[in-house]
Amino acid sequence: MAYDPNNIFARILRGEIPAKLVHETAHSIAFNDIRPQAPVHILVIPRGAYVSWDDFSQQASDAEIADFVRAVGDVARAAGVDAGGYRLFANHGAHSHQEVPHLHVHITGGRPLGPLLM
Ligand code: 5GP
Repeated sequence: MAYDPNNIFARILRGEIPAKLVHETAHSIAFNDIRPQAPVHILVIPRGAYVSWDDFSQQASDAEIADFVRAVGDVARAAGVDAGGYRLFANHGAHSHQEVPHLHVHITGGRPLGPLLM
């Protein structure tokens, strides 16, 4: 899928719409989800123009990938969900109901999340 430069997360990256940033690195940012599904619900995104994990894993540099993976861990630890446990997920494409076509990893936690059913 071609990258849409006007998707909502691209606009957050450009500062065109507000978001509650909780973490920033050279290649990644993290912000609170606007419709949280758990007490902690943070989205971590690369700054680069990648639609999905598929694009990112094939096209991103090792520096971007290392930065992003480290950012996910750092954000979860800073959010205080590391001890109790948390869930990471990234939706890809229509079957997953990916809403925003810019790669993002969800971090959810802060309460028992129940079993993953799908
Ligand atoms: P997806 O279904 O693409 O994996 O998840 C997209 C997520 O982005 C949803 O959890 C949704 O609540 C969140 N989201 C959508 N629009 C905005 C927005 O404008 N700001 C923020 N902070 N989150 C958003």
